Amino acid sequence: MAEIMEPKNFIHAFIEEDIAEGGQFAGQTVHTRFPPEPNGYLHIGHCKALTINFSTALKFNGLCNLRMDDTNPAKEDTEYVEAIQEDIHWLGFDWDDRFFYGSDYFEKTYEFAEELIQKGLAYVCELTPEQFREYRGDLNTPATSPYRDRPMEESLDLFRRMRAGEFEDNRYTLRAKIDLASGNFNMRDPVLYRIRHVDHHRQGTKWCIYPMYDFAHPIQDALEGITHSLCSLEFENHRPLYNWVVEHVSVDHHPRQIEFARLGIDHTVLSKRKLRQLVEEHRVSGWDDPRMPTLCGLRRRGYTPKSIRNFCERIGVAKAPNTVEYAFLEHCLRDNLNETATRVMAVIDPVKLTVTNYPEGQTETFEVENNPVVENSGTRPVTFSRELWIEREDFMEEKVGKFFRLFPGNEVRLKGAYVVKCTGCVKDETGKIVEVLCTYDPESRGGNPADGRKVKSTIHWVDAGNCYDAEVRLYSNLFDDPDPDAAGKDFLACLNPNSLEIKTGCKVEASLADTKPTDRFQFMRQGYFCADSRDSTSEHLVFNRAVSLKDSFKPGK
Ligand code: ATP
Ligand code: MG
Repeated sequence: MAEIMEPKNFIHAFIEEDIAEGGQFAGQTVHTRFPPEPNGYLHIGHCKALTINFSTALKFNGLCNLRMDDTNPAKEDTEYVEAIQEDIHWLGFDWDDRFFYGSDYFEKTYEFAEELIQKGLAYVCELTPEQFREYRGDLNTPATSPYRDRPMEESLDLFRRMRAGEFEDNRYTLRAKIDLASGNFNMRDPVLYRIRHVDHHRQGTKWCIYPMYDFAHPIQDALEGITHSLCSLEFENHRPLYNWVVEHVSVDHHPRQIEFARLGIDHTVLSKRKLRQLVEEHRVSGWDDPRMPTLCGLRRRGYTPKSIRNFCERIGVAKAPNTVEYAFLEHCLRDNLNETATRVMAVIDPVKLTVTNYPEGQTETFEVENNPVVENSGTRPVTFSRELWIEREDFMEEKVGKFFRLFPGNEVRLKGAYVVKCTGCVKDETGKIVEVLCTYDPESRGGNPADGRKVKSTIHWVDAGNCYDAEVRLYSNLFDDPDPDAAGKDFLACLNPNSLEIKTGCKVEASLADTKPTDRFQFMRQGYFCADSRDSTSEHLVFNRAVSLKDSFKPGK
């Protein structure tokens, strides 16, 4: 179970007032809900909303329901329902048996609609969608509807016949009778029900009229006994309607809606519609492509539940819209993996290093520490022999600038093993370097010369006689443009053509042979990696770079 969100936020302050003596919910259990629409996978923006809902319940020792908001019959799918549950569990939150579907309340919602008609608070309107827009009025002109004064009995009869399937789509709507002159357009006799001859993923053909979100949602909250309906800011202007609904239908429980700012992150898009388009147009390999801001994508990339929860907690809960740097999400991951990931050696762009004075056929074993920042994290054996793999970029035939790694005449430390001195290299007929040559100092076992001379650089290496080939996938931002989500921008044109670089023939140390996708490693000097959950097998290891070591996040920027 996740820890409680500690930093104080304005939502918690409101709730404290509400449950205190004299408050709206004095003495009651705090009850929140997370209502995703099962028409796509959860992304990091939803994560903010669900963390707020679940953590707030935890903080107040309350309850949080998971409710599939499947009011709208289009594009909903059980695949998404299952994925959403899996993602939330993975994050460490749970709803016990409080799992609901908005569509389970359709019958009740329908009854409340009849109740409003009978109370003279709703009427059947027959403006076409075009006329509806035409009659909507503007700030200075009230809306109009010639059907507003339709007798109650007639509206009731028409509404029942709408349900019975007598009319085609859009022929009639049911509208609340509130205030056609309201400055808030949501209150200008909003539509409560419309006709849609569409099957529902759970209700099948039972319904051909569907309630609008603004009518269904407050009813669902009220029926579940939700005390605090926490939602994103775009619902602020809908709050008067939310309150109107719970006040005018026969529910004895009146939840309070509180809004918070949506999360935006630079270099990405957080809209299911756009994410779906990336998937459907094969711009990415799927919803769980490791470059996607979806929870399944982040998980496959190597993100841990803890890093994502920390991110959501550290960005806080504010009322003002904010965009957070993607670099901050990466910073949170690095923070977490620094403490938990085992350090290993892997060579991504290998070139052979031959230790010419090391006896052929001889091997020896070094114990290398697993994690220098965690006490008692132990060591693991790493073998050493005459032929090793090193990173091609760790050698230069002629030193340039501040290059202190391998070049003829220079000494470097092979991490955890010996100090070696470069003596030259071998090239093929095209002039390409195929082998680097060196000699080792037998008096430097463990990496420190016996005479105390200084060795500036340490490089990683892998024993060529005891290692595995691997494919390594290096990811960077899916979008070059910092704000691909901006209104009016063609987000597809902002895609980074180099967001995935695939390296094959990489060499990894023997300890990585049985890697499971949940294992995360620091490839020394390179970054944090995890085995790819779809493609990595013991015959063909595939590692994803979760995040590089270089932190580009500047606090306070
Ligand atoms: P999208 O625009 O991605 O389709 P949505 O709001 O339509 O998002 P829902 O499934 O309805 O998706 O979202 C469930 C909850 O998550 C809602 O309460 C919504 O306010 C919240 N939510 C969605 N995106 C964000 C975001 N970027 N930041 C904070 N909360 C979000
Ligand atoms: Mg929505």
